[in-house]
Amino acid sequence: MINLAYSLMPDRDNILDLRPSDAVARLRAFALDHGVDAYRGNQVARRLWTAPVASFGDIAELPTAFRAALDAAFEMPRLTLATRQQSADGTQKFLFRLADGEAIETVAIPDGKRLTVCISSQAGCALQCAFCATGAMGFVRNLSPWEIAGQVRELLLLDPPLRPTNVVFMGMGEPLMNWRHVDVALTLLNDPAAMGIGARHITVSTVGILPGIEALAARPEQFRLAISVHAPLDALRRQLMPINTKYPLADVIAAARVFARRVTFEYVLLGAVNDTPDHAVRLAELARQCGAFVNLIPLHPGGSLGFTQSSPRATAAFARVLRARTVEVAVRKSRGLDISAACGQLRVERLGRRSPPRADHHADVHVA
Ligand code: SAH
Repeated sequence: MINLAYSLMPDRDNILDLRPSDAVARLRAFALDHGVDAYRGNQVARRLWTAPVASFGDIAELPTAFRAALDAAFEMPRLTLATRQQSADGTQKFLFRLADGEAIETVAIPDGKRLTVCISSQAGCALQCAFCATGAMGFVRNLSPWEIAGQVRELLLLDPPLRPTNVVFMGMGEPLMNWRHVDVALTLLNDPAAMGIGARHITVSTVGILPGIEALAARPEQFRLAISVHAPLDALRRQLMPINTKYPLADVIAAARVFARRVTFEYVLLGAVNDTPDHAVRLAELARQCGAFVNLIPLHPGGSLGFTQSSPRATAAFARVLRARTVEVAVRKSRGLDISAACGQLRVERLGRRSPPRADHHADVHVA
């Protein structure tokens, strides 16, 4: 739904939706057209993502008239911070409002010297995974490149700023169903001329959208891939993740095998559903086929989607079976439990029950 205010916005070019090389070329040409040196364009470009400012008017190093000219020609849009919550464990959760009234969530998870930010790539999600409440809310729309990378930009604009060391695409949405925009967003996050976060510190998480995996694999940078496996057998995986009908396990594993970098499997442990030793044996086989690292994720409480967490005993036994088969495995801890650090939970609290209460999937982020 597009509201009136949105559709009546003046027709300026969104400078944040351009790749850094395109933005700098445009800005240098714009500078020359406006009678200032081309390097002024580089000064502006630096202020988009590298050392961001809230608006052109804040670029103190520029002549005032040039700032006004930029403002008349280009849009440097913001995400509106609607809610910010902080957990006792330091995890912070942000609800951002988009220009068309949609809301997305971003979570910042400190861990020692690391600050991992979990970002959304779509408003809602079409995939309907049984245990995931973003799926229950349905698909609304793809986020544009600046709305994706802009979640990190907004954290840099906070006072004091939050400086992420790692980014994971584990918020709302399926990034590889929005590849065209995620592709640009990855450049905005990674390019030293933009935010400069190392590619090995950026993880794209997917249910296994094969064309998207191929596209990610084709990028020269070392972006990481995490695959949501959640079941080692097609029949069970189909029940939990309907997408398995289109992209069955064997194909997803084959794609993981040809991915040049080491892949992470995500596996949410669901009590008495996918957590038996037999499941672990089969999962170990799959992990060994493609040398994957396995992240065992506790189901986040708070969702009422008919699933329960695995017991500590079942979790430990599951991990033991994997280790005994020389599969590297980490058992994740939940974070931000006291702030409903659940992806859709905050959105539901603030916007009313458009979607069911959801479980969290930010809380258990692994970055290899
Ligand atoms: N669509 C992508 C990325 C977003 S979800 C994907 O599926 O990988 C990020 C991770 O959180 C996925 O592994 C997802 O299955 C998991 N997740 C979803 N709901 C969860 C819940 N209730 N508890 C724990 N993890 C969950």
